Amino acid sequence: MGQVFSRVLLKLSGKVCGDNGIDVKRIGHLAKLLIRVLENKSTSLAIVLGGGNIIRGRNFPSEDKYDRVPIDQMGMLGTLINGLALQRELEANGVEVRVMSSLRVDEVAEFYKVRVARSHLDKGRVVILACGLGIPFCSTDYATVERAIEVRAEIVLKGTNIDGVYDGDPSRDSNAKFLSFVSYERYLQDQYNVMDFAAIKLAKDQGMPIRIFDFFKEGNLEKVLAGEEVGSLIYFSQESVLR
Ligand code: UDP
Repeated sequence: MGQVFSRVLLKLSGKVCGDNGIDVKRIGHLAKLLIRVLENKSTSLAIVLGGGNIIRGRNFPSEDKYDRVPIDQMGMLGTLINGLALQRELEANGVEVRVMSSLRVDEVAEFYKVRVARSHLDKGRVVILACGLGIPFCSTDYATVERAIEVRAEIVLKGTNIDGVYDGDPSRDSNAKFLSFVSYERYLQDQYNVMDFAAIKLAKDQGMPIRIFDFFKEGNLEKVLAGEEVGSLIYFSQESVLR
């Protein structure tokens, strides 16, 4: 299947690495899926992994007396652990990978610099962007859109375990309607919750399209890279996102 984008940023929740910590089998499966699409080298691939399988700051048990900052720092380091696990698996299969971290951990990963990240991508390396933006009170969704703009990705592809955006909660409401397209305005107005609002606002300001799709459905990653309308597109209008 031909690939239509020259550069994408793939956002995957920490779930792809495990339910609770790292699941080696799941990382192996993830790497296999990625290697399959990397064989057709026309799209350069940056990846942001979440860290929810290790720590999610907003869900971490805490009372008011606790400072949120170290909790979010643990969350960021969780994304680094996921990134290193994926790097290990990809490298073992001959893929050139760089993990770039927004926090300085020089012995472990390169410190993120936008020009260096672009250069790695230009050379066909997979770049795994870890530690979000390196600041607390921030989600990896927001970091995804920010980094996608910086590395000049054409689109954010958010792979999740649901098939896209619904106008209700399909697990509770059988009348919830699947939306193959949602404008940024409608997403914010109707308060959908597949991606956080700060991320959607930034995407709107900078015109970054976002496609939400079921990452676990066989063939879906190939399809979104081929420009097929799988899942839901969040953008200004339904017109082509190819520039
Ligand atoms: N985080 C942060 N700053 C960032 C990115 C992430 O503080 O720039 C922390 C935050 O605590 C977050 C955790 O890292 O909850 C893991 O990321 P996220 O919840 O987005 O992971 P996902 O839900 O995608 O698995």
